Amino acid sequence: MRITGNMINYYFVCPRKLWLFSQGLQYEEENENVQLGKLLDTGSYKDKRKQVMFDGTINIDFLESWKVLHEVKKSRAVEPAAIWQLRYYLYYLREKGIPVEKGYLDYPKLRERVEVTLNDEESEELGNIISDIEKTISQEISPSVEKKKICTKCAYYEYCFV
Ligand code: SF4
Repeated sequence: MRITGNMINYYFVCPRKLWLFSQGLQYEEENENVQLGKLLDTGSYKDKRKQVMFDGTINIDFLESWKVLHEVKKSRAVEPAAIWQLRYYLYYLREKGIPVEKGYLDYPKLRERVEVTLNDEESEELGNIISDIEKTISQEISPSVEKKKICTKCAYYEYCFV
């Protein structure tokens, strides 16, 4: 089963979102937050970005000297999810034999940056997270709707609530 960086992120945001995304129901193009994310793609990072896709599984915003990863985000609203997504990239690349050292979450609009590393304990935790994700996305029925603060900004809001 192919576990993508988005799935790791959605695992921390909402199990229903994770499940819907895994079924191929992807409205992301229409979501204004996603569009804002795309603006970042063509704005602040235009000159130095080198987006790298590995195995069609992880999509890294840019990679400095094959050692340091960068993931660009517009806000710190769901930072734990973003941190684990970046940890997963470190984990995945190390598993492939690429000795990446660390990553940064970059918030160009806030002019902030958060360093993200991956230790042995966190690698083990990622193993558990991956098994949980596999269980969730294998379910035949979606997890139920649970209203959260993030729902109004979620790409699946209309699907869940309208
Ligand atoms: S709208 Fe809310 S409940 Fe529905 S998928 Fe998004 S975060 Fe989950």
